[in-house]
Amino acid sequence: MQNRILIIGACGQIGTELTVALRAQHGAHNVIASDIVEGDKDMMEAGPFEVLDAMDALAIEKLCAQYYVGTVYLMAAMLSATAEKYPERAWELNMESLFNVLNLARDGKINKVFWPSSIAVFGPSTPRNNTPQQTIMEPTTVYGISKQTGERWCEYYNKRYGVDVRSIRYPGLISWKAQPGGGTTDYAVAIFHEALEQGTYDCFLKEDTGLPMMYMDDAIRATIELMDADTDRVQVRSAYNLGGISFTPAELVSKIKEQLPDFTVQYNPDFRQAIADSWPASIDDSVAQQHWGWKHDYDLEQTVVTMLTNLKAQHSNR
Ligand code: NAD
Repeated sequence: MQNRILIIGACGQIGTELTVALRAQHGAHNVIASDIVEGDKDMMEAGPFEVLDAMDALAIEKLCAQYYVGTVYLMAAMLSATAEKYPERAWELNMESLFNVLNLARDGKINKVFWPSSIAVFGPSTPRNNTPQQTIMEPTTVYGISKQTGERWCEYYNKRYGVDVRSIRYPGLISWKAQPGGGTTDYAVAIFHEALEQGTYDCFLKEDTGLPMMYMDDAIRATIELMDADTDRVQVRSAYNLGGISFTPAELVSKIKEQLPDFTVQYNPDFRQAIADSWPASIDDSVAQQHWGWKHDYDLEQTVVTMLTNLKAQHSNR
């Protein structure tokens, strides 16, 4: 039976936690983790792991056949800030890996695909506050262009070939287990590490830059809920808006200071400020709520307390 799960890009910020959650849900031996690099000890020992290049269509096909894979989660990508440094490589990786997986589904070799989109599909001409599901989308970053194009192809493969592909426009994700991989919202993770290690943080965005964010547990739950939803409820086959919390660096700092009163921050915006300025400040996810019952859980307060509690424990175990 073709019912196992393959995660491509399992060692990244999302993949690390998605692998654990899917293994808990489906049994470790039913979830094959893969990445272009080897994972840490926990990842490698907790279930099957394979080194796999998302650009190698044949290798993905062979692995799917070998393990009787029915569902692929494609998490490998080059993220926004890194992609601005290597635009062509970002385009190649982000598009080619998606085609490799969509084509396998089109050819009936797998049944279901999860591919993450991003708030980066929006651009400066998009309404910034409470950005709707359907609106103007003129992304100005190579990452955003690749995600918007990816959304169009996902919808096309669904309509034309009946491929069961599902997607979410993740906001910036906040987590403590794995480091973020080169995005513009990474400051909202780095700030917690620096607050605990140095007591001070040099922020690469301006203090009043509002961006949509989400605690990782909510993002993982959303991913699994969307993938488990009945097919007829998943009416959007490009990608769903997903709202969580929205805040500025200054608002985050003031929440952290409630826990760590001596914490200080300097603001030195770099090239990532222009990327952040082109994105929405908050997201309307009412369509995801209506279609498959989405509701976020973590607010800013809970996110800050959870991050600091877990990172303190992690630091004291070093
Ligand atoms: P990440 O950079 O932390 O992880 C990506 C993983 O892919 C890494 O482990 C990397 O080694 C692997 N990888 C890179 N090239 C590969 C290749 N050729 N073959 C196989 N693996 C390869 O990224 P993430 O934050 O976990 O993001 C996962 C997905 O979610 C991406 O598509 C990203 O665009 C999207 N997303 C993330 C966020 C966020 O805040 N983290 C927000 C919006 C969307």
